[in-house]
Amino acid sequence: MITKIIEEDLIQKTKSYILNASDIVIVTHTSPDGDAMGSSLGFAHFLRSIDKSVTVIVPNSYPKFLKWMPSVARVVNFEEERERCERVFNEADLIFALDFNVLTRIGAMAAFVADAKATKILVDHHLYPGNFADVIISYPNISSTSEMIFRLICRMGYFTEMSKACAECIYTGMMTDTGAFTYNSNSSEIYSIISELLKKGVDKDAIYDKVNNNHSLSRFQLLGYALNNKMRVFPEYRTVLITLTKEELEKFSHRKGDTEGFVNMPLSIENIVFSAFFTEDAEKVKVSFRSRGDFPANEFSAKVYGGGGHLNAAGGESYRSMEETVDMFEKALAEYQTMLLETKL
Ligand code: 5GP
Ligand code: MN
Repeated sequence: MITKIIEEDLIQKTKSYILNASDIVIVTHTSPDGDAMGSSLGFAHFLRSIDKSVTVIVPNSYPKFLKWMPSVARVVNFEEERERCERVFNEADLIFALDFNVLTRIGAMAAFVADAKATKILVDHHLYPGNFADVIISYPNISSTSEMIFRLICRMGYFTEMSKACAECIYTGMMTDTGAFTYNSNSSEIYSIISELLKKGVDKDAIYDKVNNNHSLSRFQLLGYALNNKMRVFPEYRTVLITLTKEELEKFSHRKGDTEGFVNMPLSIENIVFSAFFTEDAEKVKVSFRSRGDFPANEFSAKVYGGGGHLNAAGGESYRSMEETVDMFEKALAEYQTMLLETKL
């Protein structure tokens, strides 16, 4: 059984905006992940199947392991085609904002979305949705935005129109946002939805293979280096930290998405509750957090770095040096020591 989680009023409003729109834009967050791309492409496939003109715009590039996704070649990268994107935003009459809660998550694109005359509809599963959209469909208990897109399409009465390509994109997002259904995935309805997606012809094993077994050799070597040379364990805090500087990343010919998943690995060490992974680029240090049990990675990230996310997966940005970013981390760990030690696994 798949229950009606999204409010009927939101479904009807969204359907009516879609039916009356001619130029639809879909935007998703910076450094788009499997759910960002899966929900955006899945929804684009659906909208095109009911003859809507759709442009998917991403703030910057998506990782190589998503390059196989159906119609991904049609995605427009704001960093590469800024003028075209500005034109598309100006001409749009409907903008969907998928898989992010506040406009700061879309970087330099934020002002264009904020100023666009189009109606805006947010579909997202992060806590604390911003108020930039005319319709806000926000359900933090749903494990992926892609699942929300499935629910939205079905509730608007279009399950029949859902193509195999659309189903593949949705499956990809559901799979990647739950670590291939290893966390945040205890809702039985997830598996009812998967069953429906399989009926559309999705080859779930092939998708897992394409996403996970498609990395470069240098990425694998970078992983070895990170685990062997750059991992610090803080047993007194049940925490692990891995840091990689810009130079180290360059040495291993780093490409976007290469370090995806590194932050999860230390959680496989017994008794570790909290894993942090910091990577440096030209202007900032990107911080990523994963936790086990009910240790709130999102609260930690928000408090220390002004970031956010979910209970067990969160992130943020630091505009200080790597050293200072690590210092802040160690000080914050001391404050969270009791909570870390008391976390039940
Ligand atoms: P990741 O570590 O995979 O980059 O991000 C994990 C989760 O943390 C994302 O799904 C997102 O919810 C959140 N997140 C990542 N980076 C940021 C950030 O810079 N700001 C906020 N508010 N959340 C972030
Ligand atoms: Mn997501």
